[in-house]
Amino acid sequence: MKTKLGLLYGGKSAEHNVSLQTAKAVTAALDLNKFDVYPVYISIDGIWTEGGKLEAPAASIEELQLTGNGGTEHVLSMLAQGKYDVVFPLLHGPNGEDGTVQGLLEVLNVPYVGNGVLASSAGMDKVIMKNVFAQAGLKQVGYTHMTRAQWEENKEEACKTIESGIGWPCFVKPANLGSSVGISKCQDRNGLMNAMEEAFQFDRKVIIEEGVTAREIEVGILGNDHPACSVIGEIVPKKDFYDYKAKYEDGDTALIIPADLTEEQKREMEELAIRAFRSLDCSGLVRADFFLTESGGFLINEVNTMPGFTPFSMFPLLWKEAGVSYPQLIEKMIDLAIERHTEKQ
Ligand code: ADP
Ligand code: MG
Ligand code: MG
Repeated sequence: MKTKLGLLYGGKSAEHNVSLQTAKAVTAALDLNKFDVYPVYISIDGIWTEGGKLEAPAASIEELQLTGNGGTEHVLSMLAQGKYDVVFPLLHGPNGEDGTVQGLLEVLNVPYVGNGVLASSAGMDKVIMKNVFAQAGLKQVGYTHMTRAQWEENKEEACKTIESGIGWPCFVKPANLGSSVGISKCQDRNGLMNAMEEAFQFDRKVIIEEGVTAREIEVGILGNDHPACSVIGEIVPKKDFYDYKAKYEDGDTALIIPADLTEEQKREMEELAIRAFRSLDCSGLVRADFFLTESGGFLINEVNTMPGFTPFSMFPLLWKEAGVSYPQLIEKMIDLAIERHTEKQ
């Protein structure tokens, strides 16, 4: 019997296009002798459209941007009727990676790939995530946060508070996003002003962090109750930092796999990554990202509960190096989804 897989992609998120690119790669990697794949496109406006059973891998991104066919209500009724054995929410950012879609699938009792509601939502909010990491004793950069209302109330005062509490350089980020969207590095008051305005375009909450000079080291984790680490990798952005363009457009950021680390450093980082995974009660997969500072300490930057997942993204490449091919990785993630669902029953 083939497994009926609903593939959710696109999404009402700034990371919509990234998801589309990934969906194309995933449809190419799925073995259609093992899976009946049902593409479900979520438009940027949040309309869901099902494309019917996939007969061949998508030839283009345009082909995956489905329209018509009954819209959201139709897909929801398909989900509720148990048409899919498992759903793969291949969604990044808000309205997909943040626990909302996961909650919907929980309510409808549909097994799904990746993290549950709590880990997804806590992992999407950089402030909450950092608060949980702090509680778990994980070291990280200094940070503070501000809502749009607080900012609007007195911008001068807010800048002063950030300047004295965080200092320069600092990073300003929308609290709930990924792919470096809306992130700026600031060196002075003027830069901070612009960065705050920019970040508030994307979110009503913004996090401001101390900027560090550090290597960026990342590890993949797979598992539910028994999480395991992949090989460890390093990203070397050619630019000042790993911004959206460097991630998806220039393609000239070097990914070094495996990262040049001592055995002791690897062990330490694995231990910290698993601690981060457990602190947020993650399941399925995450990519845990660290800064390795010049003094040799690991600071956790974030976990990504649905990391970049094209065949050329860090997470799949780290597993490839660990001996798990892209198609095998997808199947492993689907198995973990079913395992978690079964154990919960
Ligand atoms: P996203 O979830 O969008 O990937 P990150 O917090 O990982 O957001 O930030 C994106 C990139 O910005 C990082 O990969 C790193 O290059 C840079 N960066 C972010 N925060 C800091 C910081 N506090 N100090 C130095 N560099 C940072
Ligand atoms: Mg992220
Ligand atoms: Mg990141």
